Amino acid sequence: MKQRIVLLAVLVSLPLTLWAQERPERYRYLDPSTPVSHDPRRVPVPEQSADPSVLVLSGGRLFTATGSEVSEGHVVLRGSTIEAILPLARKDWPEDAEVIDVRGKTVLPGLVDLHTHLTYIDPDTSSERNLSIADSTLRAVERLRYYIESGITSIRDVASSGDIPFVLKRWVAENRVVGPRIFAAGSLITATGGHGAEGRNALTESEAVVTASGPDEWREAVRQQFDKGADVIKLASHFSREEIRAAVEEAHALGLKVTVDAETFYVGWAVEAGVDSVEHPLPRTEETVRLMAERGVASVPTLVPYILIIDSAGGYFGSTSRRFTMTKDSNLAMLKTLKEAGVKLGVGTDLVLDWYRYLPEAYITELKQLVAAGFTVPEALLAATRESADILDMGHLLGTLEPGKLGDVLVVDGRPDETLEDLARVDLVIRNGTIVVRDGKVSVPRHEVVSRTNEKPSW
Ligand SMILES: [Zn+2]
Repeated sequence: MKQRIVLLAVLVSLPLTLWAQERPERYRYLDPSTPVSHDPRRVPVPEQSADPSVLVLSGGRLFTATGSEVSEGHVVLRGSTIEAILPLARKDWPEDAEVIDVRGKTVLPGLVDLHTHLTYIDPDTSSERNLSIADSTLRAVERLRYYIESGITSIRDVASSGDIPFVLKRWVAENRVVGPRIFAAGSLITATGGHGAEGRNALTESEAVVTASGPDEWREAVRQQFDKGADVIKLASHFSREEIRAAVEEAHALGLKVTVDAETFYVGWAVEAGVDSVEHPLPRTEETVRLMAERGVASVPTLVPYILIIDSAGGYFGSTSRRFTMTKDSNLAMLKTLKEAGVKLGVGTDLVLDWYRYLPEAYITELKQLVAAGFTVPEALLAATRESADILDMGHLLGTLEPGKLGDVLVVDGRPDETLEDLARVDLVIRNGTIVVRDGKVSVPRHEVVSRTNEKPSW
């Protein structure tokens, strides 16, 4: 009898588990050899002609984020891709390669920040200017510089105004603006009066936050972000079970992951609906944490913004989506609970207002929280690279130093795998095989002069 009950329980739970994993089916007809866009949208693109230029980072300590020990060697990049990881004794790269001596420095995959808001308001700016599209765009451009100079080569923007993150994503990819790769959610979707939409505010007026009512509108709001170019869908409490189920189902059918800002029982509803990750260290039941671990629902704990909020204001006040007791200790305790349950953890800083000016220390502080929760220093770096790339749905192209991965590489003058503070000593940053930061600051090549004689007449 007992065995039958167990069997019944397995059968009942099976369809739910399968349903939660439905999303990858989107790409089953896409052969891995088909060239696609380098984002979670996986849109087929024409075959690119191989860029023959070779760049070698020679003789550094390699933290590959593959789990292997740090050892000295060379990283060979051809065009936008890592071509080889060579041991110290092998130097078989083309004679005309650009070779940079990085002996004594540490080479690691570019860092990922899974929680940014590029266009959010600046506290020293008037509300009129904060709502201006031009001002918002330039605020975002300035922030991109802080991220890239901190060694962060990919950001997941989980709410910004209008088309701005999508336009900047394209401009960065075309090397016309310096910054990290942008994976954008577009507008955050919540219900009337939900998180970020309480009263009329700058976030709703600038459409960084949009509201929807009922399952059909939640589906439509997801489609609107997809239409703008979303790489991920961001939802926030409050919502009904039907609303979040509809939104998640729609996003997964479109091939996108879903992340949610939620608290208390809303986290449970979101996990039941099949979301892929949960932002913040907010309260939830042990049962929900267990379900997160079981279903592979990741967590982006973002402890740093709450440290800043509690330090500057004494608490998180005035929000109906934060009606619980929050302390630095309760947040760290939630991070420990998530870690001990085996939940996959990524790194995000949620640096709103002018807190991006605290980079890179703010990012390093987030990693120190992981260490305080029981991670080793190398494990914290794995969360910042491989694990976060996986949460981005980009684990096949980013997050480790391995042949075939995209050339997003960070060189620091120190040993960050032993001392996290060394991450602040950024020397070189390479994004997509191009050097974008030298000696810790943005490096922009002189513009290419186009001769009129090369122009094709249009008449
Ligand atoms: Zn946020």
